[in-house]
Amino acid sequence: MDAGIVHLVGAGPGDPALMTRRSLELIALADAILYDRLIPPGALDGARDGCDLRYVGKRPGRAALQQEEIDALLVALGGRGLRVVRLKGGDPFVFGRGGEEAEALANAGIPFEVVPGVSAGVAGTAYAGIPVTHRDLASGGAFVTGHEDPAKAESALDWGALGRFPGTLVIYMGVGNLPQITERLQAAGRPADEPAVVVERATTPRQRTVTGTLETIADVVASEGVRAPAIIAIGLATAMRERIAWFERRPLHGRTVAVTRARAQASGLAERLRELGAEVVEAPTIKIEPRPIQGEVAAMADAIREYALVCITSPNGAALLLAALAGRGLDARALAGATVAAIGPGTAAELRRGGIRADVVTPRSIAESLIEALIDTPIEGRRVLVARAAEARDVLPEALRKRGADVDVIALYETVAERLDDGARAALERANYVTFTSSSTVRFLVQALSPERLLGRVGPGRRAGEYHTTSLGAESGRVGALLPEGARVVTIGPITSATAREQGLRVDVEARQHDIEGLVAALMGDVA
Ligand code: SAH
Repeated sequence: MDAGIVHLVGAGPGDPALMTRRSLELIALADAILYDRLIPPGALDGARDGCDLRYVGKRPGRAALQQEEIDALLVALGGRGLRVVRLKGGDPFVFGRGGEEAEALANAGIPFEVVPGVSAGVAGTAYAGIPVTHRDLASGGAFVTGHEDPAKAESALDWGALGRFPGTLVIYMGVGNLPQITERLQAAGRPADEPAVVVERATTPRQRTVTGTLETIADVVASEGVRAPAIIAIGLATAMRERIAWFERRPLHGRTVAVTRARAQASGLAERLRELGAEVVEAPTIKIEPRPIQGEVAAMADAIREYALVCITSPNGAALLLAALAGRGLDARALAGATVAAIGPGTAAELRRGGIRADVVTPRSIAESLIEALIDTPIEGRRVLVARAAEARDVLPEALRKRGADVDVIALYETVAERLDDGARAALERANYVTFTSSSTVRFLVQALSPERLLGRVGPGRRAGEYHTTSLGAESGRVGALLPEGARVVTIGPITSATAREQGLRVDVEARQHDIEGLVAALMGDVA
């Protein structure tokens, strides 16, 4: 048997984007992962199927594994020839007991590697706008534990040295002992008016920072209810924060925004919102179910050259039309003779990915704007294909038929309900904004949250058409009450808004430009 290996890996302070490339590689390769509480959300998403995931941190009502037990487990798993990742918050060798684990592995002759992580003391200060060192203000930084009882006679900390230290003191695990710590530091000669900052849940969307002086900070922390995990920074450089704090000043910091669109499409919107500082709750209510490339869909692809005009109504439609052509041994050239019309820039972008430049692209993502855009395109007596979702509105084919076109409609996909998991449900409760990017996201969210679900009359897997859209709450406001109180509803445009109102929701914000950029702009306008 090959010798195993144990990787002692730092997962960073909480922001998943601060995980190192090496940590993600190793998580994906691991046979077993032993992890603690303070690892970023989603840190284990990349683990492979069948990876043995073991939580070894503290848990309510049960004793945490003792350090000796963790050491022994690492030795045992490594000794069995496994590739083991020991995943810890921050850096494994900064207050992470990684030193003890490495020693146990060395003693047992098990190969190991150490992957540093971004430590909370470095990241928390940076995200709070505090340079740990500064040419004029701090000639060094010291990482100090605040865990030990400062009152005990045999302190491992040299308070005299900390009193004289000419730089920033960064204290981990110190919230509980803060009153004693600040007293000892003043007694050791640090000035009472030295600036001090405490950063709670640093680098996460819920980061909160409180400021004071060595004399006042303990009271501020108590009155503001600051809790662990938090780091304490003391020193002149911490005052830089007033000028260079950046993270908490981002426009959507402290706001929780729910994204209800299909998981496959949510990432663009979610990323944009996160970049602006929002905590994003992904609560996909719908998913796209492509129709198999058989029957009607295959026949459409085979006959594609017969159409003078091909209208594609959504990015999904574009991707699936190209997939259907490919599935029938065709490529972009099959559309060479046709006028290609795309509803919305997103649809055009998807077509471009397949090597097709649309002849007509509407600026807005609604059917009416394509009817307008085609006003001068001769279609009388010609064959036209409309490629779209199963449950789409009929305005476009009807308008084209009225102008004498011979219109075929092909449904390339259906929109079906996605199961709203308990995590998403709980997170929705905290949402300040709930965003809707289409009528189906509204219908399916209302359906998912509706008490009718409990009666089993509607539920996941049903098609949109099967769900009767009579409003539960238009008069009673009950549907509105399904969203958390104070949550504001944001829609991408008037069609989605109309559906929302039909479903008994109050629409607070409607995008003027009917795309993701427009929706984000509208939401920002509401916050400001
Ligand atoms: N190895 C970790 C530290 C573990 S000790 C590292 O290098 O960061 C746990 C302490 O780290 C907490 O009590 C707190 O002081 C600090 N900490 C960890 N994550 C934090 C976060 N997101 N925000 C603020 N402090 C954090």
